Amino acid sequence: MATTEIVYPLAFPKSVAHKCEICGKTASRMCAKCRVTYYCSEEHQATDSNGIHDKICSTLATIRAKQPFLPSEEERRDRDREIREKKLRLIEVTRMIGERHVFQSRYDAAIPAALASLKLAIEVHGPRSVELIPSYLVLAEASLGLKQLNQCWEYLSQAQYTVLQQQDHAPPAITSQVARNMAQLSIARRDYDEAARHLANDIYDASLFYGTEHYKVAGGYFLLGKVFKLMNRLEVTESLYTQVTQMWYNHLRRLLQSRVVFSDMEAVLGKQDNDEDDEENTTNPSKLDLATEAEAHNTLQTLLAYRHETSHGPTTLQELNKIYHCFTILYFLARDYIQVRDSMRNIKDCSVREIDEDQQRILKFLDQLNRMKALMKRQQQEN
Ligand SMILES: [Zn+2]
Ligand SMILES: [Zn+2]
Repeated sequence: MATTEIVYPLAFPKSVAHKCEICGKTASRMCAKCRVTYYCSEEHQATDSNGIHDKICSTLATIRAKQPFLPSEEERRDRDREIREKKLRLIEVTRMIGERHVFQSRYDAAIPAALASLKLAIEVHGPRSVELIPSYLVLAEASLGLKQLNQCWEYLSQAQYTVLQQQDHAPPAITSQVARNMAQLSIARRDYDEAARHLANDIYDASLFYGTEHYKVAGGYFLLGKVFKLMNRLEVTESLYTQVTQMWYNHLRRLLQSRVVFSDMEAVLGKQDNDEDDEENTTNPSKLDLATEAEAHNTLQTLLAYRHETSHGPTTLQELNKIYHCFTILYFLARDYIQVRDSMRNIKDCSVREIDEDQQRILKFLDQLNRMKALMKRQQQEN
């Protein structure tokens, strides 16, 4: 949190009006390390430092510093390309850090990270590009988390305006996300009719892009179930929540199958996952990315609470088993094997053949893993 470097107030020429990285007001301080980032106050510097700047300070120094003159056009082109690539990478990294802060409910820290990604995206893509929308959405989510509903509305309006300017060329994956965020704001404002309208758009666009049964569509159904619950239309909630459980159940089972087949060797051989390695998180298809994992946890927790509070019939038991099985797979994919065994114990009835088969597969895997580890340990001791 604390900025350790010395700050030189007004250590830059007065003629250049630098702006605060956080609020855009006239700056009076500069980061002494990169010397290319400015702030209006110590408070805003601390906010930025805490949320993102410490992680990107040195990279910003290389891309924002005044570049020496290069005589050859080819050299200049190469340098421009290199800087552009660095910026593109930094947009991804800062946005991902912002999302991570949101998942961890660190909304204050998410804002500077998302602002950094937005600023870079404007530099690279221009102010009207759809490429800016993911940053607006992180900003909107963080504002909603901070209960700053007007601020949230402003970011979403920017996102919506950007969509409208594409004249029907905005990708449905993006428009569905904007609609889903709009719905979340409407829920916070207790405007449930409006929320349902946004969610209808979300579900339509997401189905168009991903297919109707895809887990990416589940988020829209899940929120719609929540809206109907708030409106006391419980029979609709019941059917929507059942559908959402099934969608996650299918998705996670598929992931489990690909995971056990393709990646068990690396786990057995003790190849460690590095959670900080964002690149791997996004490129390995058999692995859950952070956003999906957080969404799955959040959704399943709500579904579990709902099943516990509603009536206990055979259908409820079946739904509970499915939900616990989803948790088991989630923990398994995260290699949290203690939690795997705990959530397995919650499955009361193994009459569902699929669940039983999956469980046998997981247990067999864990057993092999333990034996392999014991063997490796013994070999190490002998050597
Ligand atoms: Zn400021
Ligand atoms: Zn800096």
